[in-house]
Amino acid sequence: MAEPNPTSTTASTGAGANEPIAEPLPEKEAADDMVVRTQRFHCTTCPSECALTVEVAEDATGALRVISVQGNRCPRGKIFAEQEITCPMRILATTVVVKNGDERLLPVRTDNAIPRALHMQAMELVRHASIEAPIHMGDVIMNDVLGTGVDLIASMDVARVART
Ligand code: SF4
Repeated sequence: MAEPNPTSTTASTGAGANEPIAEPLPEKEAADDMVVRTQRFHCTTCPSECALTVEVAEDATGALRVISVQGNRCPRGKIFAEQEITCPMRILATTVVVKNGDERLLPVRTDNAIPRALHMQAMELVRHASIEAPIHMGDVIMNDVLGTGVDLIASMDVARVART
């Protein structure tokens, strides 16, 4: 296994994080002691990218829950909104140092979205890693990142070069 060492990171929504679920979430009611606010964002589950208007209730402990969702053209929009409010998921993209390769840095990404809250921890894990060339696009660089069941994979090929 590799010793990571990233130099940059970006994050994008992983379509795989929003697998189709047949039943919509039921609408909920906010309790009297909850603060309700409206958030607007796009569902990124499919290319339609519906503009969602989401009512979110926050209780005294800061816990959030979705009260209602509008603008979704299918039930998956409500699932997406719930996920986005309670545990947003993103694909992590970064780089790993390459040893004996024709590139010094290998672009890598998670093969599915992981909780955004874990990104800093995952970056710390990857930061001290390195990988020996040759590497092929899709090779697993790190298994089961932080127990998420998601792997970190190579985004490109890197050929081996003997350095003197
Ligand atoms: S709500 Fe449904 S149709 Fe709209 S972007 Fe999400 S998955 Fe696509």
